[in-house]
Amino acid sequence: MTDNALSESLIRARHRLEKALIDAGRPTTDATLLAVSKTKPASMIRQAYAAGQQAFGENYLQEALDKQTELADLADIEWHFIGPLQSNKTRAVAENFAWVHSVDRLKIAKRLSEQRPNDSAPLNVCLQVNISKEETKSGVLPEALGELAAEVARLPRLRLRGLMAIPAPADTLEAQRQPLAALREAFERLKSDLPDAPLDTLSMGMSDDLEAAILEGATQVRLGTAIFGARDAR
Ligand SMILES: *Cc1c(COP(=O)(O)O)cnc(C)c1O
Repeated sequence: MTDNALSESLIRARHRLEKALIDAGRPTTDATLLAVSKTKPASMIRQAYAAGQQAFGENYLQEALDKQTELADLADIEWHFIGPLQSNKTRAVAENFAWVHSVDRLKIAKRLSEQRPNDSAPLNVCLQVNISKEETKSGVLPEALGELAAEVARLPRLRLRGLMAIPAPADTLEAQRQPLAALREAFERLKSDLPDAPLDTLSMGMSDDLEAAILEGATQVRLGTAIFGARDAR
C-alpha cells in the first residue's frame, strides 16, 4: 500500500465511524478508533501515525515488541495489546503497553498488576467476555464476569476501564446487534455494581460490524482490515 492509499483508507475509516455515530444519534466524539496493525510492518504504522493515528492494537507479543523497537522515536504512540495472553508473556505486556483488552482470568490480571513498573501509569485493562459463549474462544463467560471484575478492580497497578468482545460472525445488522447489546448490558451492570471503578470503555466493533457496535454503544472500535487491507501471512 502506498503512503497515500493508507492515509486515504484511514480517512475513510474515520468518516465511517463518524457517520455511524451520527446515524446512532451520538456525538461524533463518543467513540475512538484503535488501528489494529497485526501482521503489518512498522513502516505502515509510521504512515498511519503521520496521518494522525495514535492508538494501535497488536495481537502477537514478539511481533509487537519488534515494531515498538523500530518505532521508539514516536514518543506519544499508544500501544494496546488485544490478543490472547498467556502467563509467561505478562511481564513484557505489563512493561510495554498502555492498555490490555484481553484479560480474561484473575491469574493474568494479578501478574500484570505485580509486573507493571512503578514508574509507569497504571495499566488500563478491559476484560474480554466470551459473549457468544463459543467453546473455543477466549474470554470470561458472562456469568463469571461480575466476580472477576470485582477482583480485578481491587488490583493496585491496574485500572479497570471496561469490556471487550469478539462476537461470533453474523450476516445481518440485527443478528450482529444481539451479542453487542448483551455486552453493553453487562457493561451497564458492572458500572452499577462497581461505582468506584473508572469504567468508560466498551471495546467492540471491527471492520465487519462497526455500525452495529456503534448502535449498541461502543466507545472504541478496533479496525484492522478496513485500515490496513487484508491481513498478511505471519
Ligand atoms: C484482528 C483483530 C481486530 C481487527 O479485525 P478486522 O476485522 O480486521 O477489523 C479487532 N480486534 C481483535 C481482537 C483482533 O484480533
